[in-house]
Parts: sequence; C-alpha cells; structure tokens
Amino acid sequence: MTATIPEQLCNFYNNQFVPLDASADAEKKRYLDVTTPHTGEVISRVPLSSAAEVDAAVSAAAEAFPAWSSRTYKDRAQYIIRFHQALIAHEDELAELVVTEHGKTKDEAIGSVRKGVETVEYAIGLPQIAAGRAAEVSRGVQCQERRDAVGVAVSIVPFNFPIMVPMWTLPIALGCGNTVVLKPSEKVPLTLNRVASIAAEIFPPGVVNLVHGDKDAAQLLIEHPKVRAVTFVGTTAVARHVSSQCRALGKRCLALGGAKNHLVAVPDCNIEMTAQDVVNSFSGCAGQRCMAASVLLLVGEQPELLDLICMKAAALEPGRGSRQVGPVIDAASRDRIVGYINEAEQSGAQILVDGRGWADRPGSWVGPTVILHKSREDRALHDEIFGPVLSIYVCQSAGEAIEIENANPYGNAACIYTSSGAVAEWFTKRFSAGMMGVNIGVPVPREPFSFGGINASSFGDMDITGDGGVEFFTLRKKVTTKWTVPTEKSWLH
Ligand code: NAD
Repeated sequence: MTATIPEQLCNFYNNQFVPLDASADAEKKRYLDVTTPHTGEVISRVPLSSAAEVDAAVSAAAEAFPAWSSRTYKDRAQYIIRFHQALIAHEDELAELVVTEHGKTKDEAIGSVRKGVETVEYAIGLPQIAAGRAAEVSRGVQCQERRDAVGVAVSIVPFNFPIMVPMWTLPIALGCGNTVVLKPSEKVPLTLNRVASIAAEIFPPGVVNLVHGDKDAAQLLIEHPKVRAVTFVGTTAVARHVSSQCRALGKRCLALGGAKNHLVAVPDCNIEMTAQDVVNSFSGCAGQRCMAASVLLLVGEQPELLDLICMKAAALEPGRGSRQVGPVIDAASRDRIVGYINEAEQSGAQILVDGRGWADRPGSWVGPTVILHKSREDRALHDEIFGPVLSIYVCQSAGEAIEIENANPYGNAACIYTSSGAVAEWFTKRFSAGMMGVNIGVPVPREPFSFGGINASSFGDMDITGDGGVEFFTLRKKVTTKWTVPTEKSWLH
C-alpha cells in the first residue's frame, strides 16, 4: 500500500478529521511546514492548534470515557485485536511514512512499526494481566482490588520514533479503559495522523483523538482540567518541567527524558561482535535513539577493537537501504552535531572517522563519526548529542569506567561487553541505568518487562510499557466486604 501525504493535516476527534477554524486570525500563521530530511523539501503542513481546538478534542475524549471505561476488559480487548491486525496490514505504508518524514532507513522504519505492534499485542492480554486480586483477610471479610481506568490520558511524543513511542502508551491506555488524546511531534506528524485514521475504523468515536501542534498545544493539553493523566517522552529539560507541572496540578504523569548511554568493553570481549554492535548502536537511526550507545569506554587500550569499529563505521553510506545511514531530523540538528565534533577536535580529541563531509548534501545529513577523547572533560563525552557520533575514552580500570558512567546525570541504558559472567555481574551491579545490556548494544526490554530509565532520563514513579504501563493507566480500587451469616436461615446449616 503506498502512503498518501495530505497537503495539510487536520486534528482528529470523534472519529473525524477536523480542519482548523478558517475564520481565525492569521490562519496561515497557524501552520508549520513538515519537511523530509532526505532533501529538506516541504511535504505537508501541520496545524498549531488553539485552546478551542485542544478543548474540542479533550471534550470528545471526556464524553467517550464513561461508556468506554464501563466496558469489560475482555470487550475492549476485542477492539485491540482488530487494531493489531489493522496495523500489521498497514505495516508497509506506515513504514514508508516513517522513512519519508523522519529519515530512518526502510529496515529501521519497519522495525519501529513492528516494535510498536508488540505493545498492542501485549494489550490484547490485559483481561488476564489486569484481572486484579482478592483475598479473605480475616474471617468472613474479603478484600478485593480492581483496576479502573484513570480518565482522559494525553500522550505527548518526540520526533525520533513517530509510531513506536506513541504505541508504548496508546494500546495499554485504551485496553485499561482510558480515552486518549495524542500530540504528535510537529516534526513528524504524518505517521501518527495515519494511525488515527486507522483507529477510526475500529474504535468508537472519542476513544482515540489527536491534536497537532508544538509546545503550546502540549501545554494546553497538560493544563486542561478534564485531562487526568499525562505521558511525555522527549528532552530532559521539558520532561522535568512537565512532570513538576503535573504534580502541581494533581495529575498522574510519566515523563521520560534524554539519555547518554555508556557501553564498556573489557579486554576479554568478543571483538567482532562488540565492534558490530557498537557501530549498529551508535549509527542506527542516525544516532537518534534514546537507547543509542554514544560513549564507548575501553578498559585498557584495545587497538584491534578500535580499528574494527572505525573500519565498519567508515564503510557506511548515506541512504535509505539496508546497511546505510539516514539523515538527521533537520538542519538545526545537523549543525548542533557538527558543532560538537568541531569542539572536540579543537580540544585535542582525535576524529578517527569523520562524518562532517555528509553535511554538504541537500537535506540534513551527518555521517557516522568516531571521536577518541584525550580529556574526560570534553562536552561531547557528557551531553546528549543525538546524532551518529561515538565518543571513545580509554579508562585505566573497570573502576574508572564505572566512575564515568555513574557521574553522568542521565540513566537510560548501559552495556557491558565481556565473555565472563562474573565480570558482567560486577558491572550490572554498579551501573546507574534503568536498562542494562550484557553483550547487547541496544538493551530494550520487551513485554511484559517495562521500558524506562532512571535519574535524569525519567521523571515519575513508573516505567512506561509492560507492567509499569498497566500500573500507570489504572487506579487500584479496593473493596472490603463482610457478610454476616444469617443465623435464622436454617437451610444454610
Ligand atoms: P522535545 O522535548 O523537543 O519534544 C518532545 C515533545 O514535546 C514534542 O511533541 C514537542 O512538541 C513537545 N514539547 C516541546 N517543548 C515543550 C514544552 N516546553 N512543553 C510541553 N511540550 C513540549 O524532544 P524531541 O527533540 O522531539 O525528542 C528527542 C528527545 O527525546 C531526546 O532527548 C531523546 O533522548 C528523548 N527520548 C527519550 C526516550 C526515553 O525513553 N527516555 C525515548 C525517545 C526519545
């Protein structure tokens, strides 16, 4: 199925696409261009929704909530099953949209659709997972706990995974009985827009809604009095802000932030596997993954591994095919990434593989870059660069590697490459990260395990998928019951 791209996008609520109010002042100013990073060409326009438009979508969700939440888990699962099938049927079309608006290669885009579909598959099992529990707590007294929906849930998502990240929350929120308003990233609104129209053929009106816009629309959603739960995924500064705002407003909030993931290689690692994984991890999705390995800490000099990493990274070509690397999201990103490479070079770091040459291509490109740092103080070693850049530092000991990893404020992922179980355990006990890998460069937990970091990578008390998602999207309600056995009913004895 080929993907059609609308010239101009609309908001979506009550299962209808609704254009912006044309009579509003300066109508033209209320749209942003959507570009393809492959060439920089404008491919569509995304609306910047006003307070009235945000309110219309939230109100649709609020009106649909009583009926949707009063259905049984089994009943809602029937809708999720159909949604799962529909996403699979549209896999190629959705992946094409991801390639076009985001710049992922086709394989990466298909992978991201499939990973999104996995969470939908998990949500099909919610009747069993969220069954609640009951126990006799004293003679004749029973405690029952059930999981009821929270209300209208808002999902504000980043640009780097146009379908996978929204699917972390949408199916679990829906399966648990919440109604949802999605706020796509204004940089990549097309894929989620298409998902909304697929959902319209399945869910009752008002259950799945979508509001386009930038930070202003996101703010209006967070502040809307009918919104009870907010999930946010994006940069740390905004995640922290969204989380404290929700706390002040008394709303549930789960806000995932940025990352700077460390990968440690010790001398007994498998050189070929480590080199391949490191290159896949830092250059895959052009380094725009919150799980990308952006720092490699070598325990002791490891020239053979270093050479192999450089050889594999230098062999990658720009493009959208397999074993190629796509563009970064926009020119501002490209310039920021190139700025980090320039700064590292000026501070005395060695640029072993230099991707700056790709920056001359039309669109927004930076090639895989490998930097060997001399100083632990280089900014590129500490900041989230969010591009295909690997910073390497040679540590004197395993202890120094842990010291560097622990000192970083983020805490999404950390990985150890070794052929010793004991060494692996030594590291995983000391890393300060929510998701750890042993000989795995992108250690994303799969359902039923939850996705989520710690420290400055996550604000809120739960993880986002798996058990964490069910916990977040439900209120645990307890019923304590006592029945006195009626003594006059002789037939009971
Ligand atoms: P971003 O923070 O710029 O934007 C994310 C979303 O928030 C967008 O929808 C945007 O419109 C909205 N937004 C922006 N400013 C806002 C504000 N002040 N108030 C409310 N909403 C606002 O992030 P991005 O550049 O789109 O995404 C990249 C970032 O996301 C990286 O830091 C990456 O590590 C992070 N990320 C983290 C995870 C994770 O699981 N921890 C997963 C994916 C991406």
